Amino acid sequence: MEIEEIANEMIRMQKDSVIQAGLRRSIDNFFRSINNVLKNYSMLIEIAEYIRSVREKVLGDLEYYIDKAIKSISATGAHVYFAKDSNSALEIIDRIIGDKKRVIVKAKSMVTEEIMLREHLIERGHEVYETDIGEFLIQISKGKPMHVIVPALHLSKEYIADLLRLYLGLTINNNASHEELVSHIRDFLKEKFLRADVGISGANAIAADTGSIFLVHNEGNINEIAALPPIYIVVAGVEKIVPTFRDAFLQVMVQSGYAGLYPPTYVNIITGISSTADIEYHRVYGVHGAKEIHVILYDGGRIRASKDPILMEQLRCIKCGRCQISCPIWGICGNIWGGRIYGGPMGVGWTAITEGVEISETISWFCLLCNACKELCPVKVNSAGISRMLRSRSIEKGKVPPKIRDMLENIYKYGNPFGLPRAKRSEWAGNSIPRFKRGMEVLYYVGDMGSFHPRAQLAAKSLAEILLLSNVSYGILGEEEYCSGSEAYEIGETGLFEEMAKRNIEIFRALDVKKIITLSPHSYNVMKNFYGDYGGKFDVKHYTQFLWHLIKDGRIKFDSETPLNKTIAYHDPCFLGRWNGEYEAPRNILKSIPGVHFVELERGRENSLCCGGGSGNCYVGFGCGLLFESGSNPNRMRVKEAYNAGVEILAVACPSCLIMFDEAVKAEGLENDLAIMDISEVVKLALQKAKRL
Ligand code: SF4
Ligand code: SF4
Repeated sequence: MEIEEIANEMIRMQKDSVIQAGLRRSIDNFFRSINNVLKNYSMLIEIAEYIRSVREKVLGDLEYYIDKAIKSISATGAHVYFAKDSNSALEIIDRIIGDKKRVIVKAKSMVTEEIMLREHLIERGHEVYETDIGEFLIQISKGKPMHVIVPALHLSKEYIADLLRLYLGLTINNNASHEELVSHIRDFLKEKFLRADVGISGANAIAADTGSIFLVHNEGNINEIAALPPIYIVVAGVEKIVPTFRDAFLQVMVQSGYAGLYPPTYVNIITGISSTADIEYHRVYGVHGAKEIHVILYDGGRIRASKDPILMEQLRCIKCGRCQISCPIWGICGNIWGGRIYGGPMGVGWTAITEGVEISETISWFCLLCNACKELCPVKVNSAGISRMLRSRSIEKGKVPPKIRDMLENIYKYGNPFGLPRAKRSEWAGNSIPRFKRGMEVLYYVGDMGSFHPRAQLAAKSLAEILLLSNVSYGILGEEEYCSGSEAYEIGETGLFEEMAKRNIEIFRALDVKKIITLSPHSYNVMKNFYGDYGGKFDVKHYTQFLWHLIKDGRIKFDSETPLNKTIAYHDPCFLGRWNGEYEAPRNILKSIPGVHFVELERGRENSLCCGGGSGNCYVGFGCGLLFESGSNPNRMRVKEAYNAGVEILAVACPSCLIMFDEAVKAEGLENDLAIMDISEVVKLALQKAKRL
């Protein structure tokens, strides 16, 4: 599949107002419930860290744990199988079910989606019913699951009423409540449970020491599936195995907590078939539960991935779906950004494992590298790192979206993504901003946006003026400055990043630079964290960190007699906050300005919503320049959030955020209601008001 085809599908979703409404409502509700759970049950965060180490241990020796689980499950009296691929899994299931036409009730399971089990069984003439409410809706709408835990979260309740009217032939009012809709589905499924010959589910965890299968759910359907039909089949990916019964229990706690469903209503633990010893203490198997249990441990690329240093990351995933809810790209189109089954941040890695890396390489181009997924993941799967690695591979094959390719060529040829002559780099500064000379205290690294973009130049200038006022011994490089390489780094063009880093390091060394402050968090990130790989060790600060020191040292003084009297919120840029853990300095600056009424946005700090400008998107347009400009795009969502919170100024600390939000304010018609200002501009405004600048 070509990137344009995926982009077109994503645009179709962006333009579908029903889906957008469903996504927006669900994301907001989901987001809040996860945060509430983690606030109320904070021990889950610690347990998640433990589970991460458990999973690393298993993945380091997956075949040993598969073997151990097979022996333990077998000892419980259940039948156990290992399936290398989907064909062998389907053959095993066909053998278990036999040729007679059966009624089959299923629980939601991603592995059964992978092997297309429902479609296969229906083709063989069986009656198959998904019994998870969301998955049932997906089945009858013939759609694609949009989320790993809540597959139908993109469908509005009005759409669901239509769907049920058509499928069940019932008279359902368009204004039917959520409760009424659920009760119609429950009544329909009740009779299927009673008639079922076979129940099928996945597993949330499998204990290698006891052979116990753990399933966590809220609907109660798994109670019926595992108990009522005489045959119960479990199909589980081998990565679900954990060493012990206790680990399995902890894992399902974490999974339900990070899905916002803690405490879960049900945790089923199934260790073999039901039995009784109530008559003369003689054990009889097969009482109220299934008479046969079959457990299929499914590989489907997992064992190979466990030996790959990058893809192994994804196998740590416990499929809680939090990364999807947090991702700005997934937020506009759900799992349409993904492979056949898995979508969103976790979908990039899972698609590579289950469908091959080719499709994932294409998908990966839409990732902004904002790191929300990794930061909020219970087991810290580095989805952004996986995307970056896949893009590098794609670049090696010469497969690069056209606008990104042009941007990279500009960086190589001109030392900036705009493709503008280097001579123009310092036009914004005129003669009033000093040029760096040996012996100066600080090099002010302006970067590409600050040097060339008219809006960002205003922020660059504000900072320069504040530094002059504070008597900082500093200078800029002017025409000598090169692109920091941050876009090349984020995109995964490692060769070009290295080239830019080396060019800058050579210049810094020639001028005996010791301390650098950057306007952009993107430059800050690469200079601080990755220039060292090429011998460039400098004391690098983001300008907000430096300004906060100047304020604390009394070198910048505000005047309480001339308060600003503004309601201000701060937007955390990804490469300052999540990538480098700096959340306080920008807030401290704003809070130190007299008359600032500081407001925290709901999505702040590590939860911050990316502006959509990372990985070069602020230069080439959203979605590598391929996606549609819509009200659900992250920059527009963010300015609406600020506006709805009664904010007058949305302060940023990144020139890319500044530009993305400036565009969003215009697109939303909020120019007269919400100002987007860089923190340097807010500081300048306060100093001007005090007549100090
Ligand atoms: S880094 Fe950001 S854009 Fe990329 S997958 Fe993660 S959350 Fe989505
Ligand atoms: S990658 Fe992390 S956040 Fe995403 S589904 Fe997996 S465990 Fe959950």
